[in-house]
Amino acid sequence: MRILLVEDDTLLRTQLRTALHEAGYTVDEADNGRDAQFLGDTEAVDAVVLDLGLPVVDGLTVLKRWRAEGRNMPVLILTARDNWHEKVAGIDAGADDYLTKPFHLEELLARLRALIRRASGQASAVLQCGDWSLDTRSGRVTCAGQPVALTAHEYKVLDYLMHRPGVLVSRSELTEHIYAQDFDRDSNTIEVFVGRLRKKLQAFSQDPNHSARIETVRGMGYRLVPP
Ligand code: CA
Repeated sequence: MRILLVEDDTLLRTQLRTALHEAGYTVDEADNGRDAQFLGDTEAVDAVVLDLGLPVVDGLTVLKRWRAEGRNMPVLILTARDNWHEKVAGIDAGADDYLTKPFHLEELLARLRALIRRASGQASAVLQCGDWSLDTRSGRVTCAGQPVALTAHEYKVLDYLMHRPGVLVSRSELTEHIYAQDFDRDSNTIEVFVGRLRKKLQAFSQDPNHSARIETVRGMGYRLVPP
């Protein structure tokens, strides 16, 4: 999952970037409203963390423009303390949730997980497909109850697919949601990650009737198939 992080406070942005990376997200960053707007318009982001007090163009204006253009990615706004009307204006402008500074990183991560979950129609923090399970809070993946150790990229692929069971996901879509903007994207490596994922998960699967699988749709992409 790819997060657009918009914050002009360098220290806070650095802390947030580290926390988001550790939580398994791919992160694009902006420190002003103009760059934020551009990234939100051109990149496949799964959610946005948007500070409202920004240089060049303020956060509220950016948010209003996105919504006017029909961009409906989940947006979590960061507001200044004791500024209740900023929250109201943000929610009215189309924010999905807000946090008041200062906040705990854990709370930001929990709210983001919930926004991403809702956007893909998932209700629980633990995603389940057959005997595969992915806990979005801890990043723990199990198959038939056995923990499966995944690399960061394998986890990102599985996380994206587990949020969309039964849905055909093209290779380019998967690539876009896994790599940041400035990363050298090679969609062939996605094939390698999917191949490794399959192997790792199948190694633990005891009963094929209860196991999910990742189907390759030739020339189209991948689909997570429930048992
Ligand atoms: Ca600010």
